[in-house]
Amino acid sequence: MKPNRFMLEALRQAKIAFEADEVPVGAVVVCNGEIIAKAFNQNITLKDPSAHAEILALRQAAKVKNSHRLDDCDLYVTLEPCAMCAAAISWAKLKRVYYGATDEKFGAIENGARLFSHSSHYHRPEVYSGFSADEAKKLMQDFFKKKR
Ligand SMILES: [Zn+2]
Repeated sequence: MKPNRFMLEALRQAKIAFEADEVPVGAVVVCNGEIIAKAFNQNITLKDPSAHAEILALRQAAKVKNSHRLDDCDLYVTLEPCAMCAAAISWAKLKRVYYGATDEKFGAIENGARLFSHSSHYHRPEVYSGFSADEAKKLMQDFFKKKR
């Protein structure tokens, strides 16, 4: 698969997190073919348990759009979103979610809660996975190797 340019930017964000000793996850929000927000995990830096890349990117994007609804936007994230982020994605009414590596431990789309596969009232974005998955996964593995 040819690397997607938006996912490459998300990967760049993940690498910034890696260098900052944060869990290396990066995310970008794309609207009309343009990146309007980009972020990486900053739980430690911001002393904020909710400061995942997706949440930070959604907050930025909402400011840019001047709306809490991002229904004409897509999210690119290097790792399968967790339950918190998947719920936020749903509240933001994002159109599509593209992610890289799956996360067997905390992922909540293909794994765990499988938030978008229930017939709940959650808004369900289109989901595409596997973009630059090997690189995203390697970054996570290198990070946790470094931590040990
Ligand atoms: Zn998350």
